[in-house]
Amino acid sequence: MSAKLIDGKASAGRVRGRIGDFVATLSGRKPGLAVVLVGQDPASQVYVRNKKRAVEEAGMLSREHQLPENTSEKDLLGLVQQLNADPAIDGILVQLPLPEHLNADLVIDTIDPSKDVDGFHIINAGKIAVGDPSALVPCTPYGCLVMLNELGHKLAGQDAVVMGRSNIVGKPMASLLLSQSCTVTIVHSRTKNLAETCRRADILVAAVGRPEMVIGNWVKPGATVIDVGINRIETPEGKTKLVGDVHFESASKVAGAITPVPGGVGPMTIAMLLQNTLRTFCLREGVATPDWLI
Ligand code: NDP
Repeated sequence: MSAKLIDGKASAGRVRGRIGDFVATLSGRKPGLAVVLVGQDPASQVYVRNKKRAVEEAGMLSREHQLPENTSEKDLLGLVQQLNADPAIDGILVQLPLPEHLNADLVIDTIDPSKDVDGFHIINAGKIAVGDPSALVPCTPYGCLVMLNELGHKLAGQDAVVMGRSNIVGKPMASLLLSQSCTVTIVHSRTKNLAETCRRADILVAAVGRPEMVIGNWVKPGATVIDVGINRIETPEGKTKLVGDVHFESASKVAGAITPVPGGVGPMTIAMLLQNTLRTFCLREGVATPDWLI
């Protein structure tokens, strides 16, 4: 491996550390995050547990609402409205995916946009698209941008390729890179000449959900590679292993810097959730926001 390893765990530790220090200085109520989980999806349960632990470690209030799989849309919307009105709650996160009988867009758009710490509400999506700095930015692309900035390379003028056009990763990631004056290309499942386009990228962000799809010869020598993918695959020994969308072994021989999976984007996503919650708290309470929060 010749690439510099972008250590998301260490970056996340720094972000969480400064959030915890800031929260410890607050004399009144602490920032509060409510997480709503519907059903028994095992991966979602792990994510929710990790988020709860991180929120508590930062000294914030964590509220968890576990609802049965057959919860009606009316009841779920009622809970969201209740949390919108709850003065102890600064951030509301409804864990996705929701069971099929529930309309996820409707549920997300019922969240008060000023408490939408996932940044998925249509108002926040629109603000990101127009470059409005008051947007709450989705945690995963936000974390990717923080890691890119930490590398200290100039982003303006760089050719960035974002693989994937989902509303939660690809599109906001592309908007954020555009706001940094990168020249941005988005590729997706219908794109022609995928490998060739990726090879032109100074910054390659892979968010496709295809295990180890991006191999070394798709990567421009010296490029920065951010691997958002989280894929569970079975090893020949019958064990489960987590891999990204990038074939780490071959890509890390060509890239200038690369995130690992696990230990890259994943930990940063949780750190940015705390950061968004602290931000909404400061805005609601009229507390001066520290420089690093803006
Ligand atoms: P989606 O399934 O919503 O979107 C995947 C995107 O990849 C789509 O735009 C799709 O194109 C594109 N795509 C799929 N197959 C190909 C292909 N063969 N070639 C080119 N493009 C392709 O996924 P998400 O955006 O939600 O997530 C992407 C990955 O990131 C997943 O592995 C997910 O687990 C991971 N993830 C990780 C997070 C973290 O914290 N690290 C957080 C969120 C997601 P099209 O639109 O044409 O179908």
